[in-house]
Amino acid sequence: MAEKSKNNQLMEKIISLCKRRGFVFPGSEIYGGLANSWDFGPYGAELKNNIKQHWWKTFVQNREDMVGLDSAIIMNPKVWGMSGHLSNFSDPLIECKKCHTRFKADSVGFFNPEDKIGKLDGVSCPECGKSDWSPALQFNLMFKTNVGPTEEKSSEVYLRPETAQGIFVNFKNISDTSRKKMPFGVAQIGKSFRNEITPGNFIFRTREFEQMEIEYFFNPEKDKWEDKFKMWENAFKKWMDEIGVNSKKLFFHDIEKEELAHYSKKTIDVEFDFPFGKKELFGLAYRTDFDLKNHKLDYKDPETQKPFVPHVIEPSLGVERMALAILLSAYTEEKINNEVRVVMKFKNNLAPIKIAVFPLLRNKPELVKKAREIYDVLKTKWMCEFDDNGNVGKRYRRQDEIGTPYCVTVDFETLEDDAVTVRDRDTMKQERIKISELKFFLKNKLEE
Ligand code: ATP
Repeated sequence: MAEKSKNNQLMEKIISLCKRRGFVFPGSEIYGGLANSWDFGPYGAELKNNIKQHWWKTFVQNREDMVGLDSAIIMNPKVWGMSGHLSNFSDPLIECKKCHTRFKADSVGFFNPEDKIGKLDGVSCPECGKSDWSPALQFNLMFKTNVGPTEEKSSEVYLRPETAQGIFVNFKNISDTSRKKMPFGVAQIGKSFRNEITPGNFIFRTREFEQMEIEYFFNPEKDKWEDKFKMWENAFKKWMDEIGVNSKKLFFHDIEKEELAHYSKKTIDVEFDFPFGKKELFGLAYRTDFDLKNHKLDYKDPETQKPFVPHVIEPSLGVERMALAILLSAYTEEKINNEVRVVMKFKNNLAPIKIAVFPLLRNKPELVKKAREIYDVLKTKWMCEFDDNGNVGKRYRRQDEIGTPYCVTVDFETLEDDAVTVRDRDTMKQERIKISELKFFLKNKLEE
């Protein structure tokens, strides 16, 4: 129980820090909000961009066997028919007959789609405590809308529930134009939409979110799927380490054969120990040739000219879920002189602001001028912030809470010795550095 309340407190602290410091705001707040919608503020937008850029650099720019794609969100509805989403992309929905709250059936009890309601007998409603359930209905999670001015069946389209199908339907375009030889992969980052029955836990589960997905195509006669799967598992372990996901909180859950999707031969749910429980952070799946086969696409081996349907390994991540795991991994409280210092210990590559520049006093024009000169140079290379509000101690505290690795202060001595004080976020040590050497010093620190 004590552990549970500690975890609840941690989630409250993260949500409050995100709001107070400008990482994440409740969506549409001035109109009373919209349940489970969130807006990423200035630092949240930087954090998300850094995650995406690091992912793209690692898995597209630095690899010869990968290319990128940016496909449309609204696609021909036939895509969702062929992919199986129209018939299968649904969750079992149940309603409590007493308080009329709706739940995803498997979130309140063990649900067996075969016997619809059977196993919910005796399970209490988490809202009102009664046990009187409606039969389960399959609820399709895709958002439906219309293209053009008429609302008839023929104009119905869907907001994509995953970015992956954009990759599959472009497989021929990409293999014809990119000159990549098998095995090769396609990466895409973009918004996806799911009309989730039970969104929640802050930015963990929302109805619109960004995905970063890879489809890695190979010839199963030439490459062993086990090797490719392992390659991606290892690549993602390394990547998560580089961006500061706490490895002690990660669990690689091999999905049991009986629970695998019918097209998958192996799936690993990579779980993170969130304060609200161990939950999926992202998935890694061997999807065989299921999707390309459905779209009737194949590939001609350039040597033998024999056509075949490539198989795929799919690492599929949510950006916001990853951001939440990173916020939780970075959050640190330290006791200093009987006061609690809150520090977001982001890895340098993910920190929203890399350097803050301060004049010691805002009403001393010579200090402000010098500090601005330094800021103007540094901001062309890194995301920097100029701050002359309040005393320096308060400015440090603010930068600690947004996770800025270095603060540079211009003081009266600077005017004499052309040096500044550089303060390290984690050690709080301060060093005097010559302005002429500052850029080099910071480069070494930030990019080490
Ligand atoms: P879950 O079981 O949590 O609903 P899923 O298995 O349906 O997830 P996938 O379809 O494999 O998820 O999607 C890949 C990734 O996209 C997930 O691991 C997660 O990181 C992210 N994701 C999926 N749905 C959501 C959502 N509603 N909100 C935020 N991120 C999501």
